[in-house]
Amino acid sequence: MSRIEQWMRPNIRSLVPYSSAKDEFSEREAIFLDANENPFGTFNRYPDPQQRLLKTALTKRKSLTTGHVFVGNGSDEIIDVLLRIFCTPGRDKIATFTPTYGMYKVSADIHDISVVSVPLDENLDIVHVDFQPFLNDSEIKVLFLCSPNNPTGNNLNRERMIALIEQFEGIVCIDEAYIEFSDQQSLVNLIHTYDNLVVTRTLSKARGLAGARIGYAFANTEIINVFNKVKPPYNISSLNQQIALKTLENNPAFERQLALLREGREALITALQKLPIVQYIYPTAANFILIKVLNANRVYEQLRKQKIIVRNRSSQIPNALRISVGTPEENQQLLNALTTLL
Ligand code: PMP
Repeated sequence: MSRIEQWMRPNIRSLVPYSSAKDEFSEREAIFLDANENPFGTFNRYPDPQQRLLKTALTKRKSLTTGHVFVGNGSDEIIDVLLRIFCTPGRDKIATFTPTYGMYKVSADIHDISVVSVPLDENLDIVHVDFQPFLNDSEIKVLFLCSPNNPTGNNLNRERMIALIEQFEGIVCIDEAYIEFSDQQSLVNLIHTYDNLVVTRTLSKARGLAGARIGYAFANTEIINVFNKVKPPYNISSLNQQIALKTLENNPAFERQLALLREGREALITALQKLPIVQYIYPTAANFILIKVLNANRVYEQLRKQKIIVRNRSSQIPNALRISVGTPEENQQLLNALTTLL
């Protein structure tokens, strides 16, 4: 048994997956009387359960095949499926470095999996000295690292992430939801080196497709095969597969928007630095900026009254607000509003 199989829940290891009609026959031209569909209409047929065209587009120009990628209903579904595969409810654990993206813990709570959370250091990075508790606890099956991290915005140290992947006896999931906004190199190519590495991405952020719910994960084929066994058969609708494909084909629009958002981020930081209300601006490599203000609850409410909605992260970091970079006009309106609050 491989070590990946050893870490799996025993019921998943022995799972006989559902075989859908579209899994058994994938030709497009035939008389389809196999899936109890309505023969009339445009979206009357079930979607491709394996999302072959979309996976081809996602792995184009990378040293990967479609067997290295899994597509989820948003990367939130990938987090959920990962826990279903590797964590036995009521017994196993996950580990996170906090503050970080809230869904790792919520997903764990849903599955009755406890969370070991180690605070990030004063630079909001992972520290080597903290690795020890993870390495010794065999009940921790999945370790989540988010880089750039949400809500802080910073990249995690690449060498330390790699050291963790090497030393940790379990799955390391690197969440790269915001990687396109960062200058940091993705860890995707390391899936060929490390069998325990899963890298998640999403079309919700830089690709502007949050409404379509398309997340994806890269890993070795052994892990991806299990993902495919555990997911609901038709987890990505035909409409969403089509819009995702179209979006991936339109690189000029993507590059243009990305440049605009990165410029907007820098302009917003420069302007925020001049506002006395802003106590501290966290370094960011994402499409959002975390700031500290004197009274975050009050600032949040006052902005809300002006119909400007930011994220109040005070429960995670005292007096912190997380601001997404908007259009240049939206950014200016935010700055105007913050100026009048002085
Ligand atoms: N990971 C991180 C770090 C996120 O911030 C988010 C969304 N806020 C997600 C994953 C989930 O993204 P998706 O829309 O792909 O479910």
